[in-house]
Amino acid sequence: MAKIGLFGGTFDPPHLGHLISAQTIVDHLALDKMIFIPAGRPPHKCHQIISHADRRLKMVQLAIADNPQFEVSDWELHQTGPAYTILTIEHFSSAFPNNSLFWIIGADSLADLPTWREFRRLIESINIVTAWRGGVDIEKVLNNLARTLDPAHFEKLKKNLVRTPMIELSATEIRQKVRQGHSIRYRVPPAVEQYIINEGLYR
Ligand code: ATP
Repeated sequence: MAKIGLFGGTFDPPHLGHLISAQTIVDHLALDKMIFIPAGRPPHKCHQIISHADRRLKMVQLAIADNPQFEVSDWELHQTGPAYTILTIEHFSSAFPNNSLFWIIGADSLADLPTWREFRRLIESINIVTAWRGGVDIEKVLNNLARTLDPAHFEKLKKNLVRTPMIELSATEIRQKVRQGHSIRYRVPPAVEQYIINEGLYR
């Protein structure tokens, strides 16, 4: 039975923060692979302009090309309408029926979990792994969740907390740097940097 991580994100663009976090979780949980899942139309980013799906998919492909444990799925990119996590998890659960699946979220998202569509079923149907990279008051988040969730659900979430390095990078900052004509070298893999330059993204 393989252990497979699922890492959703906008990835506009993918950066070293994503890659370091994904690798830390692969190592910590001894995952066989991590599947990056670029979001079609993230429900929480519906008012923001994001790069075309093909370009985000290409950038993730370039970012992970040299890592045999990393894969990318275009599944969410083909969905019409908002891609709720529960739908994605149902898809991957039926695509990999005999495997252990781990859905990766950031500690900031953990606080919002009770607002997600069908969050109880979500917690039951997959191992939700929280990547905690500091910056978020995790005790406070956990205390709030303990008050909101069933004890069994709360315990399941709490035991899947993984400490990841604090990498002060965001896709927003990278897009802004490109727009301002600043270098993004070392913030994204060289192939992603080259693609952004060649395609004239974020200008
Ligand atoms: P944006 O700035 O456009 O909101 P982002 O950099 O936060 O983008 P996303 O694609 O939205 O990137 O994030 C996908 C996932 O990666 C989320 O779970 C997010 O918490 C995580 N993530 C984002 N930045 C980092 C980072 N520097 N280190 C570790 N994980 C990160």
